[in-house]
Amino acid sequence: MSDCLFCRIVAGEIPSTKVYEDDTVFAFRDIAPQAPTHILVIPKVHIPGCDGVTAENSALVAHIFEVIPAIARAEGLTGGYRVVSNCGPDAGQTVPHLHFHILGGKPLTLEMA
Ligand code: AMP
Repeated sequence: MSDCLFCRIVAGEIPSTKVYEDDTVFAFRDIAPQAPTHILVIPKVHIPGCDGVTAENSALVAHIFEVIPAIARAEGLTGGYRVVSNCGPDAGQTVPHLHFHILGGKPLTLEMA
């Protein structure tokens, strides 16, 4: 989608600090980190959010969950980390492109996104 921020990041139209990329997945550092390590993992294809996950695209989400621990290992998050996906306005989703936050690098409070 040409007007989607994260689609434009995948396309290289908006700069990002990439930490991982393969054929279907892209990961980059959050511009406003809420923890020492804060990475966003997204499908390259536009899926609006968790509500957009279907039988047709759920294999991609499964792949993302294989990528996440690999990124966490590469980032040295040996003490653990949190994975968050906000879905919809009540959850605070601000970018309508499915994304998973990886948060870590210190003990996290429950208030943390
Ligand atoms: P959410 O609020 O769950 O939709 O998460 C969106 C995240 O995208 C927030 O944590 C923002 O800080 C982050 N974000 C917004 N614009 C950018 C950008 N250009 N590069 C990296 N992260 C961004």
